[in-house]
Parts: sequence; structure tokens; C-alpha cells
Amino acid sequence: MDESQIQQWITQFPLVQDLIDLKPITWFNPRATTLQAGLPYVGLAADDVADAEQRLARFAPYLSAAFPETRAANGVIESEVVAIPAMQTALDQRYGLKLGGHLLLKKDSHLPISGSIKARGGIYEVLAHAEKLALAAGLLQLTDDYGKLFSEEFRQFFSRYRIAVGSTGNLGMSIGIISARLGFSVSVHMSADAREWKKQKLRDNGVNVVEYEQDYGVAVEQGRLQAAGDPSCFFIDDENSQTLFLGYAVAGGRLKRQFAERGIRVDAQHPLFVYLPCGVGGGPGGVAFGLKLAFGDHVHCIFAEPTHSPCMLLGVYTGLHDRIAVQDLGIDNQTAADGLAVGRASGFVGRAMERLLSAFYTLSDREMFALLGLLDSQEHIQLEPSALAGMAGPWRVAANSEWLAGRGLDERQMNQATHLVWATGGGMVPAAEMAKYLANVHEAG
Ligand SMILES: *Cc1c(COP(=O)(O)O)cnc(C)c1O
Repeated sequence: MDESQIQQWITQFPLVQDLIDLKPITWFNPRATTLQAGLPYVGLAADDVADAEQRLARFAPYLSAAFPETRAANGVIESEVVAIPAMQTALDQRYGLKLGGHLLLKKDSHLPISGSIKARGGIYEVLAHAEKLALAAGLLQLTDDYGKLFSEEFRQFFSRYRIAVGSTGNLGMSIGIISARLGFSVSVHMSADAREWKKQKLRDNGVNVVEYEQDYGVAVEQGRLQAAGDPSCFFIDDENSQTLFLGYAVAGGRLKRQFAERGIRVDAQHPLFVYLPCGVGGGPGGVAFGLKLAFGDHVHCIFAEPTHSPCMLLGVYTGLHDRIAVQDLGIDNQTAADGLAVGRASGFVGRAMERLLSAFYTLSDREMFALLGLLDSQEHIQLEPSALAGMAGPWRVAANSEWLAGRGLDERQMNQATHLVWATGGGMVPAAEMAKYLANVHEAG
């Protein structure tokens, strides 16, 4: 990219200079509007999410049979919400600001099957594809007990079809494991930053792992190219898939029920803030869409990204979406936060959701590691670095009283607020790898 183009962007969009300088920034989105005004731009509606929820309910007997770890929840892949009061106190001190309300953690890090948020969208998309094939072949009816899919007959049937995906790790884990279990022949195209243990786990599950020396964008392109030459191959497109997005969106209604069971109120007097780590955008975008449908204008969704990979902030802030990448500014897209090392955001998600997202911020890898260490020492919960990206968010929001006042939120409401940090991964990190992360905390200071 030539210097004059970069200069032009900086003149037009001043925050671009801070992004280039890798400064942690918080940007409150001036285009954010009400659910009613923003919803038409999404191109999807509550019916679509309900449809996804029903599809997952049909598959619950299959999941329960094929993955014993989901049996206790009757084949529903869902995570718990926990309070983290010691962490809240520790962060009040770290950031020098007392947070009103309660800090909660949504433990998608401990979702069954693949131990990350990708167990929502990734698994859902493979199930939707399998259902379509089986229905078209006349082997399955919508009213059947889908437990029958866990059989040699169906494995034989699915083995005639291929699935391919490009991934930095966690999406590949979800799609690889579920696809192989159903019987598909599945290839996961892994970028250079993908962890060795994730590749090994996939191979152990019968997945074909293809390795690249380049980043996520290249792995996705290669996967897409190879799949294009094979009509029996279904390519899962993390950057543009509405199916994936809907799989994530189911989380909104589920959280609403979890809150109702626990007596957690969300209304004008009790606002909800949700902090979501963002890579390409499908996971946090889909979850945010589901949350907006469930809680309306009382939920405020905030995206978090590494200072080295701020692709969604850049795309939405400039309005250029997928027509700009962090590399165009000379930003290297190098981060220890697996899943967040994405240089170019999904154009679909940015355009669909830009009116429904309240704020975007960046934080350094060093900060993520510090938060990882604090959560371990204060709450004895271990996550992977990317899953800590949301943890700084509540204090970024609380620091901007002007923005809060503009939303009609004063001290009274903020003292009754719920701050939910979406922990997106880490539950399956091997102990030796976690020890390395924790050692890094002290190195990174
Ligand atoms: C994939 C991932 C994300 C972000 O999801 P996107 O859909 O890529 O935005 C966040 N955290 C973890 C651990 C992930 O694996």
C-alpha cells in the first residue's frame, strides 16, 4: 500500500494513526441505533434464529449419542454463566476505577466437543449440511429421531461427501470433530499460527490437516480453491456464512433463559453489557445479533480485538469493511490470541451489524496475558489469551460517563448493571500449554 493512500486514510479517519501506532483505543460507534432501526440491515430475523434453534433441538438426540459429554444436558451444547467477584475487585484496582454492577463470565471456553465459541456456529453449520443431504436422499424426515444418524448406515452415506474449512485453530477443531464423527471426509486448512496440539487432536479424530506457512486469509483461500474443484465438497466459509452466524445467534435466547432462571434482570433500569472477542466477526456478530433479539435496546454489545489485529474496528470505523485489511496500514497481524489473528473482517458481519454494536476497543497481547494470570489467581479459571480480550471492556465503558449519559445511563442504572465477559476459548488447552501461557504472564509483565 503506498504512503499517500495511508496518509489520506489518516486525514479522513484520525484514529487510523492510533491503530498504526498499536495504541490500545476505545471507539464508541456513532452509527449505533435502536434494534428497530438497525434490524432491517441485518438481512436475517427472529424467525431465522428460531429455525436454527429447532434444528439444534432435532439434532440433540444425535449429539447426546455421539458425544457422551453432552448427555447430561440432553444433547444441548451450552455453557454456564458464573460470577467472578474476586476478579472484579482485582480489576477495580488494576484500572483505578470502581465498576458499578456485577461482573459475570460466560464460559463458552468450556463448551463440550471443542472447548470454544466455535462449538456453536461451526457445529451448527455441519449439522445443517448433513440434514440437507440426508433429507434430499430420502434417508431422513424432519419428524424422525435424529439419534438414528449415529449409525454405520449414515456414516457410510456421509463418507461419500467432503467438507473443507480454513482456520486458525478453533473453527477447524469444531468442524473437524463433528464432521469426522458424522462420517464425512473432512479437510482443515490451518494457518501458520495454529497450535500443534490442535492439529494433533484433529488427526487423532480422523481429520485431514493441511498446513500453511501463511496466515488465516491464505489458508481460507487455498481451502476454498481446492473445494471449488470438487462438487462433492462443501466449503465452510467463515467470512460470509449466514448459517454459521445463525448457529451463534441461538446463544441470545438461551442466555435470556439462563438469566431468568437466576433472577438476573435486564431492563431500562438494569442494563446489560456484553464484551465479545472478535476475529473475523461471525462468532461475536452472531451472538450479538441473538442478544439484540433477546434483550432489545437494553443490551449493549462491545467488540474486543488485539492491537495487532483490529480488523473489525478498522472496517466499521472507516466504513470500508472487507475492502481494507490491517496489513494495508503496515500492521503485522501477529498476536498470541488464537482466533483473533485476522487481518480482514467479514464484510457480511460488519455491514449487517454496524448499527447494532455500541463500541469497539483494542488491547495489547501483554494486557491479555496479564488478565489471563489474574483470572487464574483470583478465580482459578484458566482460559486461552483471546478469551481474555473482553475482560478489559467494562472499565473502558465505565470510564466514558459522557457516552453513558447519552444513553440515559447514570450512576443509579450502572450500579444495577450486568457486565458479561464472553470467554470464548481455553477449556481444552493441555496443561503443559496452559503452563506456558501462565509463564508468559510474568514475562509480559
Ligand atoms: C474464533 C474465535 C473468536 C472470534 O470469533 P470470530 O468469528 O472469528 O470473530 C474469539 N475467541 C476465540 C477463542 C475464537 O476461537
